[in-house]
Amino acid sequence: MGITNAHLLNIIDLHVCRDGAEILNGVNLAITRGSIHALLGLNGSGKSTLAYTLMGSAGYTPQRGEIWFDGENITHLSLYERALRGITLAWQEPARFEGLTVERYLGFGLPQPDPKRVLTALEAVALTPETYLRRYADESLSGGERKRVELASIFCLRPRLAILDEPDSGIDALSLSDISQLIHRMAEEGTTVLLISHRDEVVALADHASLLCGGQIVATGEPERICRRYAGALQKSKAGPKQAVGVQP
Ligand code: ADP
Ligand code: MG
Repeated sequence: MGITNAHLLNIIDLHVCRDGAEILNGVNLAITRGSIHALLGLNGSGKSTLAYTLMGSAGYTPQRGEIWFDGENITHLSLYERALRGITLAWQEPARFEGLTVERYLGFGLPQPDPKRVLTALEAVALTPETYLRRYADESLSGGERKRVELASIFCLRPRLAILDEPDSGIDALSLSDISQLIHRMAEEGTTVLLISHRDEVVALADHASLLCGGQIVATGEPERICRRYAGALQKSKAGPKQAVGVQP
């Protein structure tokens, strides 16, 4: 796969091990500038591992392969250096910040105070500012509320690349239409979105899609086609345990 200017992100033959097990074994993926790219995969296929590796999280150093962002090889850059270049990640399990209000948390990464931006970000994730600005970003928020606050913090930053790891999963998380509105607002502001999910509905929101299977991208292309491939993989995974039961005495 060649590195072209049309692609904001290029992942080439990426191999990542965790505790001796190879989780990603040769990921190749190119994300077009300004696009919304859905990454589908069954639970355990390596989606979050890929997200952490792209962000440069500790313990996710690739054994092999390269990551290129905007024409620069970032494979060996730290998480901080990647954040400075405009890469952000909304974690599948957002962290809690004891003692910090939602208002302060959202304002954190901004170069200067921008209360209007903070309000817009809360509205973009369907949280009413009057209720949430003064709440604490700690365990008093439900899992879904924390997820929304995390997504709002990313929206606030106007990142160049937003990696959203399962924004639609969990109780009281965002609905598909909320996510659709959010990522289209991001795209309008010039953010490229990598939308990770195990739910095939998200491909309806995407310009391109890829399927991750067993630590490799097995298909990339038109969302509808990838959705059909994924349906096949889902069926096989459901049939697997039943078949195994069938052969037991
Ligand atoms: P997904 O996000 O697609 O559900 P993950 O990236 O979380 O998948 O995990 C991919 C695989 O890697 C899973 O089989 C998981 O059990 C395994 N895995 C994750 N972390 C570790 C680890 N620290 N040590 C060994 N295996 C791990
Ligand atoms: Mg995951």
